Amino acid sequence: MLIKVCGLRAAYGAVEVLHGIDIEADRGEVLSIIGANGAGKTTLLKTIAGVVRATSGEIIYEEKKITNERSDRIVRTGIALVPEGRRVFPDLTVRDNLRLGAYTLRNRRLKKDLLDLVLETFPKLRERLWQHAGTLSGGEQQMLAVGRAIMANPRLLLLDEPSMGLSPLMTQEIFSLVRKINSEKAISMILVEQNAHMALEFSHRTYVLENGAIVMSGESSKVKSDPAVLAAYFGG
Ligand code: ATP
Repeated sequence: MLIKVCGLRAAYGAVEVLHGIDIEADRGEVLSIIGANGAGKTTLLKTIAGVVRATSGEIIYEEKKITNERSDRIVRTGIALVPEGRRVFPDLTVRDNLRLGAYTLRNRRLKKDLLDLVLETFPKLRERLWQHAGTLSGGEQQMLAVGRAIMANPRLLLLDEPSMGLSPLMTQEIFSLVRKINSEKAISMILVEQNAHMALEFSHRTYVLENGAIVMSGESSKVKSDPAVLAAYFGG
């Protein structure tokens, strides 16, 4: 088991938005979490990443309890978040954005190997290394956001809506590159998506989140053909 989340609750002020979530992922696994707008998907990832406080429950990662650890410590344990809306630093070059992703690392050799991995995976970034990130297209910025997270040398990548605002073609490209990283580098992933079709296609297992609670889970190929999922996400 790589990560196990048990009975996780989180709130904004007095309003609880996660009502006791249980999920787990094995090493090498890609999990997807699908659910409508406002279901709590982003909050779940932020709570795992230590950005939002859990009010109760536990997050166990590689046998250690990381619940409510500081977010930089969580990065050091090997969990990296690619936030929603691909927040790159627009006034910094692509290269500097990537270097910032490795801020927790000391080993120069490792940083160089990670940079090589990112530039091999996303050759478009290599062509634009000295360009300001703000001048990249939406798809290129998403590649940069993923690349920056990979520069932290994660064993678990948390991806928040990588398809947001991208064309179907670009979404396909990002998903296949991310899947390549998963299979070649054994980086596990938890992917949150409103694009249920892509998420189910791409992941090994899926959890369905509704109003802050998991209402269904299983192998993605099975969840995909569940009548309730078909009705809710694929118009019957
Ligand atoms: P979306 O796909 O629209 O991003 P989501 O499933 O990721 O939705 P969350 O962003 O986790 O959902 O939001 C869950 C609930 O928490 C929503 O009702 C939202 O309005 C509320 N919420 C999110 N962030 C905050 C915040 N910073 N302060 C107060 N309420 C918030």
